Amino acid sequence: MPPTTALTVPRHGASDVLTTTTIDVPAPGPGQAQVEVAAAGVNFIDVYQRQGVYPIPVPFTLGLEGAGVVVAVGEGAEVAVGDRVAWAMQPGSAAGLANIAAAQLVPVPGGLALSVAAAAMLQGMTAHYLVNSTYTVQPGDVALVHAAAGGVGQLLVQLITAKGGHVIATAGSPEKLEIARRLGAETLINYRTEPDLAGAVRRATGGAGVHVAYDGVGKDTFDASLASLRPRGMLALFGGASGQVPPFDIQRLNAAGSAFLTRPSLAAYLQSRDELLWRAGEILAALADGSVELEIGGRWPLAEAATAYDALEARRTTGKLLLIP
Ligand code: NDP
Repeated sequence: MPPTTALTVPRHGASDVLTTTTIDVPAPGPGQAQVEVAAAGVNFIDVYQRQGVYPIPVPFTLGLEGAGVVVAVGEGAEVAVGDRVAWAMQPGSAAGLANIAAAQLVPVPGGLALSVAAAAMLQGMTAHYLVNSTYTVQPGDVALVHAAAGGVGQLLVQLITAKGGHVIATAGSPEKLEIARRLGAETLINYRTEPDLAGAVRRATGGAGVHVAYDGVGKDTFDASLASLRPRGMLALFGGASGQVPPFDIQRLNAAGSAFLTRPSLAAYLQSRDELLWRAGEILAALADGSVELEIGGRWPLAEAATAYDALEARRTTGKLLLIP
């Protein structure tokens, strides 16, 4: 049982509960691989878990995604020592060593840095399912993307424009909007200073509204997202960075023009190994060939993880944050 350093949540609370501890990692069980973690991704869902919004019994090791090299293989696990692998939605990722189900591991293409693979898995597959499966973006579609300079947001802008879609991007500062513009967004709205967000979207679309609104901000943007849709448009509410949306009167979908509302989650879009390999494979390949770029907005050692989460929660970050065990 090799010891390793892990980022743990001993009790629910603010970032000051985060602790680095030495844990003993058992040998990988049947179907598992033990991975030396090169980098683990920081995600907003970690915040919900740490706060207890998503109730995970404490104590637990934080982190849901990462990439590294296989160092030991359990019985029946179809990977080999030395394989470069990445994963998402697997608990206990923010640690020097992690035992991960081999069926959840995807190969990292040669030439792609493990840190970039770690950075791309959760947010990349999220952007992938949102534009390919939740709402299938078609050439000419107009999409509203909130927090467009964030981790998921930057990837959404690129995947939508690659499909021939048009992006109306929101963000909280001119610098963040400039990132969205550089990645392909055509209309930029600072939602911290724009008093009528839905009105601005209407003006940008000649009154028509958008085909789809991708909203990971939640409480603060939900009403404007709904009011920005064209008839039969879709609101994909995929997160609540500003807080969760309160209970909702279904009649509002009628008033919004027979709108569709969905609250998707990545797990529901990874229903089989084929689906995992499809989504991760396309994202990692696009990063490897340079057709999609990913900004790593900061790297922190596990012991300084609180700094990373504080920055994320205070809206000071752009792109993807990493923890380096
Ligand atoms: P981001 O990098 O996008 O960071 C969050 C951003 O949200 C901030 O930078 C900020 O950008 C914006 N924001 C607006 N209001 C607030 C607020 N009150 N507090 C904090 N941030 C705010 O994070 P991620 O890319 O990791 O995640 C984005 C969203 O996607 C989250 O809601 C997350 O839960 C969700 N998500 C959902 C998944 C799913 O499958 N359903 C999977 C992965 C992520 P700005 O300053 O421009 O406003």
